Amino acid sequence: MELDDLYQEIILDHSKKPRNYGDLPEATSHAHGDNPACGDEIDVHLLLNDQDIVENIRFTGQGCAISQASASMMTSKIKGKTRQEALDILQTFQNMFTSSEEPKELPKTFGELKLLKSIRKYPQRVKCATLAWQALKQTLS
Ligand code: ZN
Repeated sequence: MELDDLYQEIILDHSKKPRNYGDLPEATSHAHGDNPACGDEIDVHLLLNDQDIVENIRFTGQGCAISQASASMMTSKIKGKTRQEALDILQTFQNMFTSSEEPKELPKTFGELKLLKSIRKYPQRVKCATLAWQALKQTLS
């Protein structure tokens, strides 16, 4: 897998120092995702408050650098968003991988998540990148 330096640096930084890693006992929902082909496992813990805002989101689990980095980026992005905003981000993110065309310009607010777009060239790693997001979808539904 060839990645440019910036991309690799950010992925490694997130996987070595994952943001929002750990349990969240006060969570209002949990979901588990696993990707046996790679050995990735991720649990997402979500705390949705009574205004439908993601007050907190954390993850636990283990796996390859991409799965951990993606979970770290996902939780950083989703924290503080409304449920609807979170669903919109989720949809945009999934479209990066499922759309048959090259994704159009992503929203500026997407920030470093855009870096994961290049993973669509490596179909066997797409599951690693989307695992945490599939679990997020379950916690929001
Ligand atoms: Zn993986």
